[in-house]
This record gives sequence, C-alpha cells and structure tokens, in this order.
Amino acid sequence: MNNSNPSGVFHGIHDIRVDEKETPAISEDSVIVKVEMTGICGTDLHIYHEGLVPEGSVLGHEFCGKIVEKGSKVQDLNIDDRVVINPMQNGIGLGVSPGGFARYVKIDNAKKNLNIFSIPDSVNSEKGALVEPFAVGLAGINKTDLKKEDSVLVTGCGTIGLVTIAGLKSKGIENIIASDISDKRLELAKELGAKFTFNPSSDGNLEDLIVNNFGTVSSLNYAGELPNLNAAFECSGVGGVFNQSASLLAPDGSLTILAIYGKELPLDPNLIVYKRLNIQGSLFYTPNDFKEAIDLMASGKVDLSPIVSHHFPLNELPKAFEVQADSNKSVKVIVDSI
Ligand SMILES: [Zn+2]
Repeated sequence: MNNSNPSGVFHGIHDIRVDEKETPAISEDSVIVKVEMTGICGTDLHIYHEGLVPEGSVLGHEFCGKIVEKGSKVQDLNIDDRVVINPMQNGIGLGVSPGGFARYVKIDNAKKNLNIFSIPDSVNSEKGALVEPFAVGLAGINKTDLKKEDSVLVTGCGTIGLVTIAGLKSKGIENIIASDISDKRLELAKELGAKFTFNPSSDGNLEDLIVNNFGTVSSLNYAGELPNLNAAFECSGVGGVFNQSASLLAPDGSLTILAIYGKELPLDPNLIVYKRLNIQGSLFYTPNDFKEAIDLMASGKVDLSPIVSHHFPLNELPKAFEVQADSNKSVKVIVDSI
C-alpha cells in the first residue's frame, strides 16, 4: 500500500472534492480493499443535491476492488481476492463509514457472502461496480410473484429500471414493456431485453400498446375489459406514473416500487381494492440477491456493460458528479480508482 489515499469527500450541497485522506490501518477483523471502480448512484445524487449525510463523509457504495491487507481473524478471504462490497451491512459510503470514491477502503467485520463477496475474473472491474445496483433490481423481482408468460411493464429506464429489465429477461420473462421519456434509454432497454418500448412524449397510448400485444381480461368489478398487464415495476419516481401503472394493471396484478419520490401523491385506494392489487416497496437487497447478481454476471447470462455511459478518473470526481446529474447526457457514470 502507498501512503496516499485520495478520497471523494462530501463538503456540502453541490460540493464534492477529492481530498487526501490517511490510508486506513488494518484491524484484526477487517480487510483493506484497493478500489478498482465505483459507480455513482441515484442515492449519491440525492446526497449531492440535498445533503442527507454529514459533511466530511467519503461517498461511494457501488464498488469493487482487490484485498491488499487482511486482519488475523478474517476467514475465507485472502490477499489478492477480487471483491465487491455489500455496503448496507456497514453503511459504507452512506455517511456511516468511508466509501469507494477512494484508493483504499477498510471493511470492518469482513465476512464473506455477507458484507464482502468474491468475484471471478469474468466479472471485470466495470461489471463489479454494477453488482450493487443489479442486486437492487433483483431484490424487487425476487419479491414479486411472476410467471414466465406474464406481461410486465417497467417504468423509468435509469440504471435501476434497466437492470430490472435485464434481471426479468434472465429469469425467462419475455413480455417486457419499457417506458421512458428518453429514446436513448429506450434503446438500451431493448438491448437489455425489453420486447416493446414506449415513450409517453411521442408514442400515443400505453394502454393501446398493452391491449394490442397482450390482449384484455375481464373483471367482475369493472365494466368492460382491462388491459392484460400482470406486473409493473415503478422505477421513475414520478407520481403520475405510479398511478398510471396501478390503473393499467389487471386484477391480482403486482406493482413493485423501486423508486424514491420527491413528493407525496394522490392515490385512489379503491383501485387497489377492486383489482386486489399487490403493491409493495423494495429497497436494497438481501445477501442472496447480491450473490445472484454476481452469479448472473459471472456466467455471462447478464451483461450490463451497455448502461455505462462514462468513465472518469477519481481526481475528476466533481466533473463525474456533474455529468451523472445531467440525465440527458449520462446513464451510468463509473469512477476509476485504478
Ligand atoms: Zn446505490
């Protein structure tokens, strides 16, 4: 290890700087990871725009790297292992302990398959940085009761919407509609597995698209027929989109919410009752979702590389945040520590 540890520090709203920090010291239950790559996440943008974590926090929770030191009590992990961090266990990069926009990160209480996961060489650094967001999408899918023949709508094709589409496809679901206001993102949605795409600003009527391709179902509680839509994953965070998904779903349909909303929204509970909708939120993931994300990438079954729009070196972190914050320019921005 060398003594220099440049780190991306949150100094306040719209103020991220790369400061020189001390290289962390090893302790008996920890490992020190030399960071390879770290993704900038929607959560990082919330911090960037709104605060939410103490000033002085080193951000970055979507990262992979190589173990360069390990404590005497650490089992099943070795020097030179390539690893991805499950940041939720220790709050790494989330204002609790220092994160991956750095050269070195210390992982306390390092436990394989809980807060730290080995990755094979088939998961390169870029893919390694995408494991964490992929696990977010898989967690939502794994909570939702789905059959292969189901028709599924994914609203919002930022990183979480796109990884959800790839996850659905990897589980054999073909009838996927992706909706977003950006044609560029819809192209990516197709590449990752969406059969149909819908741009509300130019494509007319989403209900027609569903009915024309998947037909209708009848409901005792509603006059006439309803679109045959079995499940929706709401990844846009736009209130109107949430309500639209709820109104498009067939009886007994599932609506899984993966987005964070800036505002409260009006909601008609009768819509939920009359159609017996299953509405649930999904946040973060279990260690099993995390392992599944790695396995799907390692086997080559899922390749999320297309969603990466930019790479920046760590010393250009402020610029990287600016680009990530501009959704017209970027999809997923990755920061390289190597
Ligand atoms: Zn994240």
